Amino acid sequence: MLRIGQGYDVHRFADDDRTMVLGGVRMEGERGLLGHSDADAVAHAVTDALLAATGLGDIGQHFPDTDPRWKGADSMEMLAQVVAMLHERRCTVGNVDCTVVCERPRIAPHREEMQRRLTAVVGAPVTVKGRRAEGLGAIGRGEGVMCTAVALVDVP
Ligand code: MG
Repeated sequence: MLRIGQGYDVHRFADDDRTMVLGGVRMEGERGLLGHSDADAVAHAVTDALLAATGLGDIGQHFPDTDPRWKGADSMEMLAQVVAMLHERRCTVGNVDCTVVCERPRIAPHREEMQRRLTAVVGAPVTVKGRRAEGLGAIGRGEGVMCTAVALVDVP
C-alpha cells in the first residue's frame, strides 16, 4: 500500500559560533541553528515524513533531545537509521519533497548538493525547494529556519 507522510521542523538561529547544516550540507560562514543535535531542520523534516508514512511515530520518540547520545549528533546519521528501519520492514521509499523557508541562508546555491546527499541516504529521489517568508512572522524576520517534507512510501 502506498502511504504518504508529512514532516515539519523549525529551529531558531543559535547565538554561538555553530555552522549551519541543512540537508547534510555544512554552509561555512552561515550562522547555525540552535538544537540538541546538529539542528539540521531539513534532515529532521525528512526523517519525520518517513516515520509518519510508515506509522513508526516521530523523530522525538526515536531520538529524544533529553538523550545525551544525540547531543551534537549528525542528523543524516539519524535519517540513515530510520531508512534502515524502513528497509527492515520491507518498505520502499518512492520519493521525498522538501520546502525550506528562510531568509538566510540562500538555498539555491546548495540545492543540488542537499538533494544529492539526501537522495544518497534515503535511497530514493529527494527534492528540495527554497522559499522566503516575505517578511512575515518569525521566519520572515530571519529568526530561524523552517522546513516541511512529504514522503511517499510503499508499505507492505
Ligand atoms: Mg529538529
